Amino acid sequence: MSELATRIARNVAEVRGRIAEAARRAGRDAEEITLVAVTKYVGPDVARALVQAGCRILGESRPGQLLEKAEPLGDLAVDWHMIGHLQRNKVRRILPLVKMVESADSPRLVEAIDRIAAELSIRVPILLEVNVSGESAKHGFAPEEVEPYLEKLAGLGHVEPRGLMCMASLAGGLAAAPRDFAQLRELRDRLRDNCPEGVALDELSMGMSGDFEAAIAEGSTMVRVGTALLSGVLR
Ligand SMILES: *Cc1c(COP(=O)(O)O)cnc(C)c1O
Repeated sequence: MSELATRIARNVAEVRGRIAEAARRAGRDAEEITLVAVTKYVGPDVARALVQAGCRILGESRPGQLLEKAEPLGDLAVDWHMIGHLQRNKVRRILPLVKMVESADSPRLVEAIDRIAAELSIRVPILLEVNVSGESAKHGFAPEEVEPYLEKLAGLGHVEPRGLMCMASLAGGLAAAPRDFAQLRELRDRLRDNCPEGVALDELSMGMSGDFEAAIAEGSTMVRVGTALLSGVLR
C-alpha cells in the first residue's frame, strides 16, 4: 500500500473505533450509525483512498466540488451525499449524482428538488436541515417550522423525507453541542409518531470530527466526518 493509503486506512479504523466506543457507551449498536466521509478538504486522489479504505458514502458541502469529484471517482461504488447549501440553480446537475440531500434547508429548495426530480423521473431521499441554534449565519428550517411543513412534504411525490440534520452552534463549542443535538432528537421524537404517510424521520444526521461522540450519545444515526479521517494528510 502507498503511504497515503496506509495513513487513510489507519484513520478510518480509528474513527470507526471511536464510533463503536461511543455507541457502546450509549448502549447502542454501532451498526445503527452511518459514517459519511466528508471530502471537501481533499482532491479526488484522497477521496479515492477513503473509498478504498471502506468509506462507501462520501459527503460534499459545495455542489461544485461534488461535481468535480464525482466524475473521476465514477468507477467506484460511492454514494454521494450533498451536505451543504444547495443553490436551486444547481439542483438539476446535482440530483442525478447523489443518493441523498442531507441539507434540504428551505421549503423553496425542497420544492425545487421535488419538481426537478419529477422531470428526471427519480425520487430523492432528503433530510430537513434544522437550524437548532438559531444562528443567523446558518441555513435551515427553524425548529418550529418543521411540524407545519410535514403535511406539505407528504404531498410531494419525488422527495423521500428520511429524517433531520443539524450542525451544532459555532458559539459555545463543545459545551453547547450536546444541547443542540438533544434538541434535534427531541424534535424528531415528538414528530415521529404523528408523521403523515410518506414522511419518515428515522435518520438524525448530526456530529462532525469534533463532536460526533456527543452526537452518538444523543441518538445520531449519521455522522459527517472530515478532518478526523485526514490526520497526517492535511497540512
Ligand atoms: C465540513 C463539514 C463536515 C465535516 O467537518 P469536520 O469537522 O472536518 O469533520 C460535516 N458537515 C458539514 C455540513 C460540513 O460542511
